[in-house]
Amino acid sequence: MINNWELANFMQSSASPDDCPHICESLPEHGHENLDSLLSPYSHGSFQDRYLGLFFPFLDLINWASGIRGVHFFNWARTFGCCPELFFAPKTEDEVIQIINLAREEKKKIRVVGHGHSPSDIACTTDFMISLQHMNKVLEVNEETWMIKVQAGVTVRDLNEKHLPKYGLAIPILGSVSDVTLGGAVNTGTHGTGDNYGTMSTYVVELELLTSSGQKVRCSREENKEIFLAAACGLGAMGVIITITYQCEPAFQLEQRRFPSTLKEVIEHLNLHIKSSEHFRFVWFPHIDGVVLWHSNRTKKPITKVTKLQQCVSWFWNYSIGYYALEFFYWLSTFFPSLVPTINNVFYNLLFTQNKEFVNESYKLFNHECLFKEHVNEWAIPRDQTGSVLWKLQEWLDKTPDVYAHFPVEVRFVKEDDLYISPSYGQETCYINIIMYRPYNKDVPHERYWAAYEEVMRSAGGRPHWAKAHSVTATELRQMYPHFDTWCQVRQRIDPIDMFRNSYLDRILDH
Ligand SMILES: Cc1cc2nc3c(=O)[nH]c(=O)nc-3n(C[C@H](O)[C@H](O)[C@H](O)COP(=O)(O)OP(=O)(O)OC[C@H]3O[C@@H](n4cnc5c(N)ncnc54)[C@H](O)[C@@H]3O)c2cc1C
Repeated sequence: MINNWELANFMQSSASPDDCPHICESLPEHGHENLDSLLSPYSHGSFQDRYLGLFFPFLDLINWASGIRGVHFFNWARTFGCCPELFFAPKTEDEVIQIINLAREEKKKIRVVGHGHSPSDIACTTDFMISLQHMNKVLEVNEETWMIKVQAGVTVRDLNEKHLPKYGLAIPILGSVSDVTLGGAVNTGTHGTGDNYGTMSTYVVELELLTSSGQKVRCSREENKEIFLAAACGLGAMGVIITITYQCEPAFQLEQRRFPSTLKEVIEHLNLHIKSSEHFRFVWFPHIDGVVLWHSNRTKKPITKVTKLQQCVSWFWNYSIGYYALEFFYWLSTFFPSLVPTINNVFYNLLFTQNKEFVNESYKLFNHECLFKEHVNEWAIPRDQTGSVLWKLQEWLDKTPDVYAHFPVEVRFVKEDDLYISPSYGQETCYINIIMYRPYNKDVPHERYWAAYEEVMRSAGGRPHWAKAHSVTATELRQMYPHFDTWCQVRQRIDPIDMFRNSYLDRILDH
């Protein structure tokens, strides 16, 4: 059954081009089955998130596999959207094949959408959009090798909370949120942090995908290796990934230590920090010198007990102050931008200057609260460039006093890999993520900050995160990735009719 988080992404009646500059400007001409109009009173923000469940039985009567019209799609941050001509939610492999055959006959493009979390138009299309939200089952579990075979529409949250605990397994590394599908996370090279841990794509053992001819292709390091190296971080360009065999590990707990420091200290001792724990990350608060470090390691220690009173206190600091008050103050700063450094300073001192230690299940500490809607930009650079990039960014902000940057600037470390277009291909990598929040969905100027950041990242040999909005095209990508042309050739071979292209791919491919 469709869940309300997905509906929150897919059906927003309040869509207007003013709301979101990147949304397509008109609905398909024959949008007679317009679910938006049916749901309109219930499709606003948190009310929708909480109450749309009332309509589930009704929604389930719709034949999602035959395609519906009039669906508006927005990504999570509501920064990009589109109006697919037909939206499909098939339940079986045969249904996916039928959709592919229909698209081929009608010369339509197809885009699979996961959970719509990518902060770019990578999941957008004006032709056929397929959601695998019903294809979310666990198919096989090998308790000896710790491998699982799942349908690609399964969410990482369901894996963490529902499926893997039954088998005493866990995913070795996660990004900040688990409200993403495994298919989506793998396709964009979603990463966490850890000296010896690759992106989530690197734990893929085998993929089964349906190509534009409707054929099923199985690929792994042993079988169809080229396709595997192209599809394990493949931007949805190789076909519909229907199953993923994934390498897990026995369920584990993490012991996490958090403490404050300064940018100077962390850069001076960067290698020591990276090597001294399994999962190290830090965030820097622009306009001030403060940073917060997190070191996490696997542990057998018992989970930290938290009393009801401690829960209330923590809710007060993390949500009433760290979320609601912060959103209000950042909103206020849209009228008085020079408040931003003070806000960064006050919230740093209020929330992040005490040392903290926790033990908890792995996914509860890998994931963290990403607060409200935001613009983000993230590139990967060779690890030895980390310090110089951060100094350059700080220098640029210092000498550009009319640009104000929100916190955090998040810095994480990922092991090198060999997937053709993984940003960590062939190099130990540092990812630097910058943010400008959109308090109460209000847009904030970020273009100059973005341009300066991208210039610094480019000059350090950077590569953009595929899920995020970027302006890099084929000529540059060819210089960034030694195997970019191989990836393009595999794509051309497997999808000669360009069924799985969209405007995002048109920008990065030169023919
Ligand atoms: C709050 C937030 C926090 C985030 N934190 C991190 C982080 O810590 N680290 C990080 O690296 N990223 C992070 N991201 C980015 C996120 O992990 C990626 O955008 C991820 O791809 C989202 O998964 P999704 O299921 O929403 O995929 P979507 O955004 O829906 O799709 C992503 C791509 O995958 C393709 N795709 C999805 N499923 C299939 C399939 N079955 N077959 C073929 N193609 C498919 C789509 O066509 C599209 O190209 C974050 C994003 C948000 C909004």
